[in-house]
Formats: sequence, C-alpha cells, structure tokens
Amino acid sequence: MSFTLPALPYAFNALEPTIDAATMEIHSQKHQKAYVDNLNKALESAPEFADKDITSLLREIKTVPDAIRQAVINNGGGHANHSLFWEIMAPNAGGEPTGAVSEAINAAFGNFVKFKETVKQNALTQFGSGWSWLVYDPASTKVVALKKPNQDSPIMDGHVPLLGLDVWEHAYYLKYQNKRADYVDAWWSVVNWKKVDELYTAAKNG
Ligand code: MN
Repeated sequence: MSFTLPALPYAFNALEPTIDAATMEIHSQKHQKAYVDNLNKALESAPEFADKDITSLLREIKTVPDAIRQAVINNGGGHANHSLFWEIMAPNAGGEPTGAVSEAINAAFGNFVKFKETVKQNALTQFGSGWSWLVYDPASTKVVALKKPNQDSPIMDGHVPLLGLDVWEHAYYLKYQNKRADYVDAWWSVVNWKKVDELYTAAKNG
C-alpha cells in the first residue's frame, strides 16, 4: 500500500477568480504530489505504517520511528492538509456557514464576523509558512481557531480539522504576491460550508 494523490473535486480553473488555475494546478500536482511521494519514500523503512490511513498515521505520530518522524510530520501533514483544503473549497460557494457548524461558530466566537476576524488574525500572524485552522476539540466539544506552522497537522494534537487556510506563499503568490491579507479576504468566497458542516457533524458524533 502507498499513499496516492487525490483528484481535485473540480477543474483547476473552477475557483477563478479567487484562486487562479495556475496556482491550483501547481499546488495540487507539484506541491501536494511532492508531499505524497516523500511520505511514501519515508515509509519505505517502516512499511507497517504505510498501511494506515493518513488520519491514523498522524494521530499516532508518537509511535512512528524517530528516524522518519519529522519526515512523516512534514509530508504526511502536507498530504492530509491539502486533501482537506481541496474539499473545503468549491466553486459557487462562500456565504455564511449553515447547519450545526454555524451554531458552534456563533457559540465559540459570538458571530460570523468575529470568527472571520480571528481566522484572519491567525493567518496574518503566522510567521513564515503555515495554516490558519478551525478545528473540533473532542475534549471540550467546542470548535477552536488556531494557527500552526509548516505542515503540522492539528490531527497530531487530537483535534479534528474542519477548515484550513493555507498561508504558505505557494498558495497565493502568483495572484496576490506579498498581499496575504487580500488572499485571506478573497478566500471566504470559495469556502464550502456544506462540507465544513459535514465534517463538524461527523466529528461531533465521534
Ligand atoms: Mn500548500
């Protein structure tokens, strides 16, 4: 068994003009592919871990051998993060959250505007590369906004990622150059809240 690059659930140009087709193609076919290839390469020396699904592998990261653990954090995290990223975006999406996740967001942040401000603040204050996240925390049964560097997956902390905003420069530089804030503001118009609500409901139900 080995990990494989997922097909995008829409065409490279489907998120135009928010995310340009060239960025989508390079991001999925080059960047995510490298994470998948390097994950498989790292696991050649520990084949028993290659049979796990990516969520189990990251949840049980402490059991991965020392010699390859950082490679699995970087590349397994990169694979998981991007697989989620494609799913929580869609053409003709955006707007406000719906369903149970909408209630959870309002309970945790007050309202949608304050929630977006928190996600943006986390995105803009992540120094260098990383992600701004909304996760479900099984311990508190609440949704939490946080930022993490590099490709570190919230799954490693026992969290269930619901919404992830990639703020690596490769995610936005072709269209937005150094203007990360403009990318963050535009990104809300492609968020697939239906998928986020599905993920929240599944997480809440264990
Ligand atoms: Mn990326």
